[in-house]
Amino acid sequence: MFQRLKANKAHDLHFKYDPDSGLKAIIAIHDTRKGPALGGCRFLHYNAADDAINDALRLARGMSYKAVMANLPQGGGKSVIMKPNGHFNRQELFTAFGRFVEELNGRYITAIDSGTSAVEMDIINQQTSHVTSTSHEDNPSIYTSQGVFEGIKAAVKSTFKQSNLKGITVAVQGLGNVGYPLIQSLHHAGAKLVVTDINADRLQQVAKEFNATAVAPDEIYAAECDVFSPCGLGAIVNHHTIPQFKCKVIAGSANNQLATEEDGLRLFEKGILYAPDYVINGGGLIYASMNHIHQPAADIAKKTSEIAATLSEIFAESSAQNRPSSEVADHIAQQRLYRE
Ligand code: NAD
Repeated sequence: MFQRLKANKAHDLHFKYDPDSGLKAIIAIHDTRKGPALGGCRFLHYNAADDAINDALRLARGMSYKAVMANLPQGGGKSVIMKPNGHFNRQELFTAFGRFVEELNGRYITAIDSGTSAVEMDIINQQTSHVTSTSHEDNPSIYTSQGVFEGIKAAVKSTFKQSNLKGITVAVQGLGNVGYPLIQSLHHAGAKLVVTDINADRLQQVAKEFNATAVAPDEIYAAECDVFSPCGLGAIVNHHTIPQFKCKVIAGSANNQLATEEDGLRLFEKGILYAPDYVINGGGLIYASMNHIHQPAADIAKKTSEIAATLSEIFAESSAQNRPSSEVADHIAQQRLYRE
């Protein structure tokens, strides 16, 4: 276990088993030097506890990088509740999880993630104040989408020397909480759209609404476009998809877009500008973090708009150092985390 913490440079790993509700949960805290660890709570089926531990540790580190790149007074953490097979009582499970979060005395602040929503956060909130994204708050996805939109503009400016999106073709994968508002903004800005989703009804509805070209999920990688915006799932930049890309920019909200670190280099060698995921998708975290400490909406909006400036700096460094943007971002994040 300590080897795993060391490999991830993580500080703590907390486990909870609650016999009454059947809760099996893990909270991984990567780093708290900049502030309390903030990160979502996943509620998913895992084949083995080992997989859940690895997920929590890997994702907690990602949250530290995301927070430090957005200059937030926050560390990185993530929690995982192993979804029981068969019958379970959601209210009891998340009540027990709320007590678990409270026991950590604010070292970890939880939020929505895959498999959880404001409903679960409200249950947790009955046990602890160390929770964000309850039903009393805005949906963080809107802020994530705004950051991605501004990030796409920064990448287009860097690549095509164009400061607006008129006539730029953007292929969006995933039309959910982030993808949909992103498409609204792109459409409004005059971009041409290619869209896909595994939900066929949603795909047709969105394509019709925005006069977009709908393609099948596995056709999006080879779509004729200027920008590919992954807003569905991770690891979609890999040895199988890279040869298919016709885009010049990859900029989207999905977490862990690169299947391996080497894929960042492969994109760079192919002349594709990659907007590092944990920088461009930081808007939701910015909202959750700043709203939790009651910062004014104008300050939150200002901080979200700074994502574009951070990306522009990374792109300029990448070009000056002839080095992949993914490596430049990792270097800056590690410098800020471990050397400042
Ligand atoms: P969501 O579940 O609301 O939407 C995802 C959409 O992608 C769904 O419509 C789903 O049908 C579609 N999809 C899934 N697999 C697909 C595939 N293979 N091909 C095409 N479409 C597919 O999720 P979301 O909240 O919009 O988040 C999107 C991504 O952004 C996720 O990777 C998430 O981790 C990441 N992210 C989200 C936020 C946020 O604030 N919501 C913040 C940071 C990162």
